[in-house]
Amino acid sequence: MAGLSAALTAAKAGTPVIVVEREARPGGFAAQFCCKATDSCAYCGACIADEILREVGESEKVQLHLGTTVDSVAGNGVSFKAKLSGSGGEIDAGAVILATGFEPFDPKAQRSATALAEHPDIVSAVDIERMLREQGQVVRPSDGKAPEKVAFIQCVGSRSRRFGSPECSRVCCPYAIRIARRIKWQQPDCEVAVFHMDLQGIRKIAVDMYGQFAGEIDFIRGIPAEAVPGPNGGVALKYELTNTGQIKRSEYDIVILSVGISPRPDTEAVGASFAVGRDSMGFFKSRSPLEPCISGTEGVFLAGACSGPKDIRDSIAQGRAAAHAALNWIQGKDG
Ligand code: SF4
Ligand code: SF4
Repeated sequence: MAGLSAALTAAKAGTPVIVVEREARPGGFAAQFCCKATDSCAYCGACIADEILREVGESEKVQLHLGTTVDSVAGNGVSFKAKLSGSGGEIDAGAVILATGFEPFDPKAQRSATALAEHPDIVSAVDIERMLREQGQVVRPSDGKAPEKVAFIQCVGSRSRRFGSPECSRVCCPYAIRIARRIKWQQPDCEVAVFHMDLQGIRKIAVDMYGQFAGEIDFIRGIPAEAVPGPNGGVALKYELTNTGQIKRSEYDIVILSVGISPRPDTEAVGASFAVGRDSMGFFKSRSPLEPCISGTEGVFLAGACSGPKDIRDSIAQGRAAAHAALNWIQGKDG
């Protein structure tokens, strides 16, 4: 979505844009996320993403190459020539914006080393986003029934030296609370618990939402050590209440893993093609923390979660900033 936001910004400024998208559909994960509004907007940004998709589709200045990748690229300090896969041919560009996105952490890596069972009703938050978008409500994957008890487990693939990243992914507390609130609003009798270490998140929105919804959502401080098939067909969680040290067990109909943001597996290869380095987490590295859109290579700019965890709204904002930086670069050369 950062890339489409950049494309639209440049197109509105009158500059032709070529978007090379590896997937068959544009928009990345943001285009699969659902509206989390209840009786009021939850400010998740999913509808802004939909609007950008629509505008890009209507823009005569944006040429979309779907299901296409860049096979090779050559730059001469002034412009870039890229060979596209398949019948995409060769394209010339005055500047490049990398917006290759992110990979949600795959809990399989954690599953094999911890008591996190294979169970149809243990799903990732990305699965639940898609379910809400397509079906309009959360149901138990194994039998399609409305759940009576739902648990979120936070920090899956984040804040861990063993699995995923040691850093906070910043987006998963806000999205978990928004989805939890949406479930509770649609199904008021459903018990919803959020197991967490502490709540973090972009713009402290998670902390504000915690204060707002603590009465209806059960925020439990402690990450379950075990998620295994329960005696009643659900998922049994074993956890320690960190404030008392008490060990508890509870069974839930659905357990939602709040997976973090990882770099895409092709980040190293794409970075090598454009001589863009990576940071300690494996994301694309900007020239300096004060210039998050500017890479270390002249004429190459960065947008969205390919340079670190961001939510939809920050990705869109960085896409716009990257487009302005790229246009300035082109004008500077031409001028
Ligand atoms: S910002 Fe999110 S919650 Fe609000 S209307 Fe848009 S999609 Fe729905
Ligand atoms: S945003 Fe919340 S769930 Fe995500 S890594 Fe940070 S603390 Fe954990």
